[in-house]
Amino acid sequence: CGIVGYVGAQSALEVVIGGLRRLEYRGYDSAGVAVLVDGALVSEKRAGKLANLVDALTESPLPVGTCGIGHTRWATHGAPNDVNAHPHLDNAGRVAVVHNGIIENFAALRAELAERGHKLASETDTEVVAHLLAEEFPGAGQDLAEAMRRVCRRLEGAFTLVATHADAPDVVVGARRNSPLVVGRGVGENFLASDVAAFIEHTREAIELGQDQVVELRRDSVTVTDFHGAPAAFREYHVDWDV
Ligand code: GLU
Repeated sequence: CGIVGYVGAQSALEVVIGGLRRLEYRGYDSAGVAVLVDGALVSEKRAGKLANLVDALTESPLPVGTCGIGHTRWATHGAPNDVNAHPHLDNAGRVAVVHNGIIENFAALRAELAERGHKLASETDTEVVAHLLAEEFPGAGQDLAEAMRRVCRRLEGAFTLVATHADAPDVVVGARRNSPLVVGRGVGENFLASDVAAFIEHTREAIELGQDQVVELRRDSVTVTDFHGAPAAFREYHVDWDV
């Protein structure tokens, strides 16, 4: 329902939780975050209010990292519980993904992944994306945006996806089809969100992604392509209203 991604110099957890708070008005049933710390992913997720997640993070704090993603969920596939909350990780715990929308062909993809030995932990349509990304990004030195493009070409339905990988330090990638995704451009930091409200306190320079586009965010760059890797046109604008 609400999505936030961040790469920069600030604590990603602080930025992501702040952004999720600004998106609370959309309604949700669970919330979660994943942060990259020293070549590993750390993650926490909870059913219920954002306050439940914040309480869990206060009780057992995550180490600080500067690259992370977060989500508030409005369940469509699978009950609103801790396991089905996003982010979803692959079996090795190397890639984390959050998703708004519905992957229509998830049942076929789940069956295919199970046949190849993947263990799916949740009942969501989303989890297949984490496993597919892991297959398309087998190790360090790979291109996470290219992995996302390959995965997107196999998906049907409506989706905003944001992902980060333990072997792709300081990179967050996003993708969209029939569901909104905006980039916030900062200085030495960049943001991704389902709504500009999530990053407006940090920057008002925004990029609205077009249909079937993938974006790669680094601290100092934003690269947009279509699902086949060709450079893509997008709309850049200044947010001059208050949200
Ligand atoms: N279909 C996904 C799920 O049920 C995402 C729902 C959402 O947009 O929050 O987990």
